[in-house]
Amino acid sequence: MTQLAQLEFVKADKLKEKPDPSTLQFGKVFTDYMFEMDYDIEEGGWHNPTIKPFSPLSLSPASFVFHYGQAVFEGLKAYKQADGTIVIFRPEKHIARLNTSNERLCIPKVDEKLALEALVQLIELESDWVPEKEGTSLYIRPFIISVEPYLGVRPSYHYKFMIILSPVGAYYADGQLNPVKIFVEDEFVRAVKGGVGHVKTPGNYAASLLAQEHAQKKGYEQVLWLDGKENKYIEEVGSMNIFFKINGEIYTPKLNGSILSGVTRDSVIELVKDWGVPLHEERIAIEDIFEAHQKGLLEEVFGTGTAAVISPVGELRWEDKVITINNNETGEFAKKLYDTITGIQYGKLEDTFNWVKKVK
Ligand SMILES: *Cc1c(COP(=O)(O)O)cnc(C)c1O
Repeated sequence: MTQLAQLEFVKADKLKEKPDPSTLQFGKVFTDYMFEMDYDIEEGGWHNPTIKPFSPLSLSPASFVFHYGQAVFEGLKAYKQADGTIVIFRPEKHIARLNTSNERLCIPKVDEKLALEALVQLIELESDWVPEKEGTSLYIRPFIISVEPYLGVRPSYHYKFMIILSPVGAYYADGQLNPVKIFVEDEFVRAVKGGVGHVKTPGNYAASLLAQEHAQKKGYEQVLWLDGKENKYIEEVGSMNIFFKINGEIYTPKLNGSILSGVTRDSVIELVKDWGVPLHEERIAIEDIFEAHQKGLLEEVFGTGTAAVISPVGELRWEDKVITINNNETGEFAKKLYDTITGIQYGKLEDTFNWVKKVK
């Protein structure tokens, strides 16, 4: 056993009332408990793993994170299956990615076994918070912030690793996938090779807000980012990776150091390979997508991410060119991927890839 054998537990005086499942949104309601663990070089690294009541933090205004943004996060989900079993989707992969993010931002790595144990124990304790209705889930947000009170620029000596939980409603209210309109961003960039585009860090989101706002004013829901150097090659959508179905084959941008390595992206790739559909992970120029459309070969476009699982794209705008994809309808392939992944998550399909971890 790891240090989690010494996990401290602070009991809440009073538990909150659970929200009405039909009113759940995203990330507004939090459960009774959270996990917290501190890092201090002098105290031997990560120590004091504790589960305690969800409550505000008290931090010095000089804490590193407020000034230099040294922070990372993850986002994953727990599901309640029809027989009451509670599972987490690919938690090991999310924790491994947290450590990849840590490495790039000079944050000390966490023991992956310990982090997984913490996650499982917290969800077990909060299992009554996992909503039952199909499509709903318990969103899990692990994150690490640098908390040393010091204004000099170097890696912080103190950190906090926390996990908070939020019951969330179904992404697709009526279970019907609805295609989104996407604006291909040709002015701002999200990330460059050698930077932190492959890292799940708050700053990437801060940097993306203005483009997102511009796109929304023009009537588009999300931005598709192009590469930061030539403004030519497709990277990803705001918080999703992107896939194209062209003439029966699947294409997605290759991980190149500036694209986030999505767990859903990886799950889609494994399924596509398993189904024997040709898959190309490569550099994709935006003009090739528009050309494929012109030739009538662009069959489907969809984003992948934990929140939506699969998000079909019905319209793409690049400069003054607008294309409608698959009649602005959800494509068969996107639907099959969605049904398969959610089927595994909700226990309706056999978990042949060993993706779900049973909590209780
Ligand atoms: C989290 C995230 C994704 C999707 O990753 P999943 O692991 O599939 O949820 C894609 N792009 C960015 C920028 C992200 O932060």
